[in-house]
Amino acid sequence: MYMKYNNKMNEDIFLTTKNAIHQQWVNIPELVNFTPWPTDLTLKEIKPNHIPASTILQKWKTGLNPQTKRLHECICTLAPHVNWQQNYFEEELGRDFLNRYGFFELFGPTGHFHTIQTCAYIAYWDSKLYYPWHFHEAEELYFIISGQAEFKLEGQQPEILTATKTCFHRSNQPHALTTHSQPVLALLIWRGSGLTLKSSLLVHK
Ligand code: ZN
Repeated sequence: MYMKYNNKMNEDIFLTTKNAIHQQWVNIPELVNFTPWPTDLTLKEIKPNHIPASTILQKWKTGLNPQTKRLHECICTLAPHVNWQQNYFEEELGRDFLNRYGFFELFGPTGHFHTIQTCAYIAYWDSKLYYPWHFHEAEELYFIISGQAEFKLEGQQPEILTATKTCFHRSNQPHALTTHSQPVLALLIWRGSGLTLKSSLLVHK
């Protein structure tokens, strides 16, 4: 499945994005306290997978936060070269949701940069989407890169989070996300056990 990465131009885009994430990771206490910067990152050849949300994201150039603008622009440049995923089916979340949402594993056991120390996903939700209650074993930290979203955690008041803000989810703690007039682009970091497991929707009986 993996080969050595030998496409120089694409490699530069991946390394530039990694550096932009590193800059945030080591300078924002919530990130570095959540988990240290992984020391075993190795770029792998993974076939890109396109989804409609990638095209929407690549057109997002305004309303950016000065602190995260460079990272946002790196991710837009990288977007055509990554393995976009969705994890859910149309029967679960609907066609409109799947047309305007997606994520990719940048760091992780099956990520573009291989590591066994953490997972780091980049995720995009377009405006006016509802991501229903879901949970996963790994602990999670959201870092908002651009835009904003309303975060709901079981047992807590909903909160609107904007660029540079973070949100922590305990292991298996149900959480949900709603975007209103703005889209949201976020870095999601996982730690602990369950790095190779997926999110599951909470099924209400
Ligand atoms: Zn989550």
